[in-house]
Amino acid sequence: MKVFKITLTQHSPACFASTRHSQNIYYTHDYIPGSVLWGAFINLFHQSGGPDIHPDFLNDNLRFSNCYIDVPGKSKSFAVIPAPLSLYTCKTNPYSPRDGKNMGHELVDLLFRHRDNCRIETCNSALRPLNTGYIYDAGSGKPGLYRPNKMVEMHNRIDKATQNTRQEHGLFAYELLDETGGIFSGEIQVMETSPLLEFIRDIKCRDLELGKARTSGCGHFTLNIEETNGSDRVCFFRTGFQDTLNLYCFSDVIVMDGFNRYQTVITPGILGLEQYIEMDNAFSRGFRVEGYNAKHNKPKINDIAILKGSCFSYRVKEGAVKEEAGREFIAQRLKHIEMNGLGLRLNEGFGRVRFNRGEFKEDHDGTLLEK
Ligand SMILES: [Zn+2]
Repeated sequence: MKVFKITLTQHSPACFASTRHSQNIYYTHDYIPGSVLWGAFINLFHQSGGPDIHPDFLNDNLRFSNCYIDVPGKSKSFAVIPAPLSLYTCKTNPYSPRDGKNMGHELVDLLFRHRDNCRIETCNSALRPLNTGYIYDAGSGKPGLYRPNKMVEMHNRIDKATQNTRQEHGLFAYELLDETGGIFSGEIQVMETSPLLEFIRDIKCRDLELGKARTSGCGHFTLNIEETNGSDRVCFFRTGFQDTLNLYCFSDVIVMDGFNRYQTVITPGILGLEQYIEMDNAFSRGFRVEGYNAKHNKPKINDIAILKGSCFSYRVKEGAVKEEAGREFIAQRLKHIEMNGLGLRLNEGFGRVRFNRGEFKEDHDGTLLEK
C-alpha cells in the first residue's frame, strides 16, 4: 500500500451529517469522515474525465481515513486520537483543563482498573464517562483534551406561497463544525497496482467543497496531498504484550459474527484469536450508520457500527502464553489487523484499530501521559 498524508484546511463552517434528526436538526460529526472524502474523490475522478465510478473506489484498493483535527500549539501542532471510552472522571468535580492546568479532579482510565476499584481515590466520588473529544500528548505543560468547536445555524426562510421553508417543508437547523483556519489530517492508502495511484499523486493541492449546505457557503476546504513512506499511525502504540492485550478503535468499526449479525463488541472470535485469548473488559457503544446516496436519490442500507474510541482488553489463555509459537501467532495476527483494518467499509475509513495502548494517566501538572 502507498500512503499519502492529507491535510484539509477549513475555510468555512461545515456540516457532516447523514440524515436529519427527528428534532429537525442536522447534527454534524466533529471530524471529516473518510466516507465524505471517498465521495468527493469519486467526483474529482469523474471531472478529470474518468469513468463514472472506477472499480477501485468500491473495493479496498483505495482507502480514505477519517481526518481528525490537529490541535495547534505554539511551535507545532499535535495529532490526536479519539478519546478512549474507558476514560472516566469525577462526577462532582469533573476534569476540566484550562490554560495548561486541570481545574477539576483527575481522569481515570478504567480499561486498566480492577472492576471494584471504580472511584476517584482522593474524594471517593463516583465516576462518569468523559464523553467525546480528542486526546493528544503535548509532552509538557498542556492538557491533552480537545473538543472541536461547533455552532448552530438556523434555516428558517419562509416561502410566501406555501408558508413553508423553500426546500425542506419545515423549519430546520444545521449544527456546524467550526474550526475555521484549522487543519484536519488523515491519510489515503492506495494499492501499488491500482490505476488510481497516478490520479491521487497528481492532485497535490485542490479546493474542495465538502458536506451539507454547500450552496449556503458551508464546507470550504483546501486539500493538500503528500506522498509518504508509510503510515505513522500504525506504530502509535507499543506492540509488545505479556499476559493481557488491548484493542482501541481509532475509527468507527463495523464487524459481523459468523452468522452475519452485527456485533457491538469485538470478540476474540472476530479477531481470529478465540483459541488464544478471552475477553476481559469492554468499553463500547454501538450506533446506526445511516447514509444517503445522492446519485440514486435513496437512503443507503444502514449498518451498525462500534463507535470510535471504544476499547477492549483480553487475557491471553494460559497455554497460549507459554508457547513461543502461540505468542508469535498472536503478534502476527495483531500486526496484520493493524495494517489491514478490521471489518467492513475499510475504503470509507471504517475499521482502523490499534493494539496495546498504554494507560492514560495525568501528570502532576495536568498533562495527560500515556504510560
Ligand atoms: Zn472528585
